[in-house]
Amino acid sequence: MFGQMQDVPLLVSSLIDYAEKFHSEQEIVTRTLQGPIHRYTYADAGRRSRQLAKALIALGVGEGDRVGTLAWNTYRHFEAWYGITGIGAVTHTLNPRLFAEQLAYIIHHAENRFVILDPTFTGMLEGILDQIPTVEGFIILADRADMPATSLPNVICYEDLIAAHDADYQWPQLDERAAAAMCYTSGTTGNPKGVLYTNRSCVLHALSAALPDVMGCGSRTTIMPVVPLFHANGWGIAHFAPMTGAKMVLPGKEMDGASIYQLLNEEKVNLTAAVPTVWLMLLRHLQENDLDLPYLERVVIGGSAAPRSMIEAFEAKYGVTVGHIWGMTEINPIGSMGTPKASMEGMDYQDQLDLKMKQGRGMWGVDLKITDDDGNRLPWDGETAGHLMVRGPWVVSEYYKGEGGQILDEEGFFDTGDIANIDSYGYVQLTDRAKDVIKSGGEWISSIDLENTAVGHPEIAEAAVIGIYHPKWDERPLLVCVRAKDATIGKDAILEFMTGKVAKWWMPDDVVFVEELPHTATGKLQKLKLREQFKGYKLPTY
Ligand code: ADP
Repeated sequence: MFGQMQDVPLLVSSLIDYAEKFHSEQEIVTRTLQGPIHRYTYADAGRRSRQLAKALIALGVGEGDRVGTLAWNTYRHFEAWYGITGIGAVTHTLNPRLFAEQLAYIIHHAENRFVILDPTFTGMLEGILDQIPTVEGFIILADRADMPATSLPNVICYEDLIAAHDADYQWPQLDERAAAAMCYTSGTTGNPKGVLYTNRSCVLHALSAALPDVMGCGSRTTIMPVVPLFHANGWGIAHFAPMTGAKMVLPGKEMDGASIYQLLNEEKVNLTAAVPTVWLMLLRHLQENDLDLPYLERVVIGGSAAPRSMIEAFEAKYGVTVGHIWGMTEINPIGSMGTPKASMEGMDYQDQLDLKMKQGRGMWGVDLKITDDDGNRLPWDGETAGHLMVRGPWVVSEYYKGEGGQILDEEGFFDTGDIANIDSYGYVQLTDRAKDVIKSGGEWISSIDLENTAVGHPEIAEAAVIGIYHPKWDERPLLVCVRAKDATIGKDAILEFMTGKVAKWWMPDDVVFVEELPHTATGKLQKLKLREQFKGYKLPTY
């Protein structure tokens, strides 16, 4: 027997529609690429995204067509997300930090018909123009005065484009399974693969992500997504902020400590989210200038492991609660969040920190399991590590164009490529990526743990641990460090610092200091490159 409630499709357009009607006065603040602060409201954003919708339709863009966006977090980029997706086309976020060949590959693979871009990115596309023949035109997010000189063909000025249309437009009632947006994995191994979000997955993810124990977003929240809209669906913020009527602060392209600090304070931001490297820059700025964070209540850290020293600095020194989050492009992207349960409140702070360093509890909607190499489930004892597998309404079922073939196990779980343990509270602790795992004497050593411990030393700015061939143990850990500015720390001092903080047999066999470490386009350590760099390295222990 079926129930008798209305079967209304879950559509991304309903999010902006809701914000426009019920939070029409709420602000969206942007640091423009030109510098000045721009302010408008959800009423303006809704109206302008409908104008864009009509303009795109007039250009011949139809349901299912892919439209790329190559832009920083600004109000125009936000409108573009809604204008494109709202008409049933697919917003394809492009990461400007990708290598030119990768960018060309994904624009072409996704067969983008148009690319909407910031004026600063014209040069990047000029360089790959001959490799992206599906693109019929380039819409530049600028008004006439800021239009750049470019050799790109069929260039359209965004403000002129939307000014030619009124906002008299009703968002169509699409099938909720219709593709809403796409994002490619960064392709650290092989070509990037496309993940195609549905309208349904975006709305359900936004609902769950907004919950108090996840991002905790509401109409009294002022949220600043420093994480770019082009990184893994922008962590869903551009969806759940309008869903909850939150004020949004969009930082544009400036992510240095001083710029971020200025917006946090002047706009009274109380919730913000980004990868650890951004927070390192902010913490350094605060320290060097003897500043504090009077308005910020919570900072969400994810994308890479949040070091203990960072969590402690935010919480103990600045009174800002840290939410450690885990997710990935293939999950829309949030999978777990470390909001403590009431039962943990009485715990000793150092024990709480141990928990906060884990990647959080599973959230509603993302079922988790850990398995051994043969696919058998492993216990949730907080120690046994295995392949982290996920299943749920916002988990990928297959990659775009079927790349990679069948990607789910027989129970419908997707292998995240991460290695983790899960404790009896349901907290996930990542120990490695499967391809980065260090196997020593048949046991796994967690590179994430070692890296976190090393960066706990104030003279270490960044650390990476890779497995190096060892004739007796197969592999042993090599610690590669970048010293903090003006620091002089050497091998013995860092090893002494780590002694007692990690299991004895995990201790690195050697330490090397470098000027910088290789990173991916999403700011993660590029271990593959590092392993290539240290190929043939001979440890002093054999
Ligand atoms: P990329 O394209 O760079 O792989 P993703 O955002 O999809 O971008 O990366 C997801 C991966 O990032 C996860 O599978 C995991 O390995 C890593 N990751 C995400 N959050 C965390 C975290 N809090 N701690 C450690 N690693 C994380």
